[in-house]
Amino acid sequence: MKTIGLIGGMSWESTALYYKLINEYVRNKAGGLHSCKCILYSVDFDEINKLQIEGRWEESGKIISNIAKKLETAGADYIFICTNTMHKVADMVQENINIPLIHIAEVVYKAIIEKNLKNIILLGTKYTMQQDFYKKILQEKGINVLVPENDDMEIINNTIFNELCRGKINKSSKEKFIEIINKLKNNGAEGVILGCTEIVLLISDNDVDIPVFDTTKLHAEYAGELALS
Ligand code: GLU
Repeated sequence: MKTIGLIGGMSWESTALYYKLINEYVRNKAGGLHSCKCILYSVDFDEINKLQIEGRWEESGKIISNIAKKLETAGADYIFICTNTMHKVADMVQENINIPLIHIAEVVYKAIIEKNLKNIILLGTKYTMQQDFYKKILQEKGINVLVPENDDMEIINNTIFNELCRGKINKSSKEKFIEIINKLKNNGAEGVILGCTEIVLLISDNDVDIPVFDTTKLHAEYAGELALS
C-alpha cells in the first residue's frame, strides 16, 4: 500500500472527515481490517487564516511547502492538501517536493466530466469564488463556472469561517445555501461544486435537485484509490 500525506487542520472539522472517508474507502475495497497508511500534519488554522486575510500567500505557501517536504521525508508517496482554498499555493508546493500533489480541482473536474456537465456552480470561500487559481483549472478545460452574486458570496464566506470551521451547523444557513444554489440553478446551472471542504457539513445531495460535487469526498476517495494502487 502507498502512503498518503495529508496536510489538514484547515479546518480540522473537514480533515476529520477526510480521515474517515479515506479509511472507509480502503476498508470497503480491501476488506478485513485494512485501513489507509497515511501521515497527517494538522496546522493551527488561526495562523494560516491570518495570512489569508492579509493576502500573505507567499508566506502561507512556504509553510505548506515545508510541511509537504516533511511528509515526503516521512515516507509519503502523495500529497493531499485538505482544503480547496489553500490550493492557491499548490504550484509552489509542487515545485518544492518530488512526489505528486493531487490537486482537488483536477479530481472534481474528472467527476464533472463523468456526468457530462458543463455549467457548474462553484461555492467556496471568497478566495476560491473570486480569484482565478481554482476557477481557471475548470474553465481551461471547458467548464462554465458560475459563482453567486456578491451579497451571496459574503453569506457563504461568513458561514464557512464563522460557523462551519467552528463546528456550528445552523439551519438558517443551510436554507440560505439552498436558496443561493436554486437561484443559480434557475440561471442554467446543471450541478454544484461544494468547493470548500466544510460545506458538506451543511449541504448534501438530498437538499438540491442538481448533482452535488462534494470535494471532500471526491478528494478523500481518490486518496484511498491511490493508496491501493
Ligand atoms: N476548508 C475550506 C476550503 O476548502 C476553507 C478553509 C480554508 O480557507 O482553507 O476552502
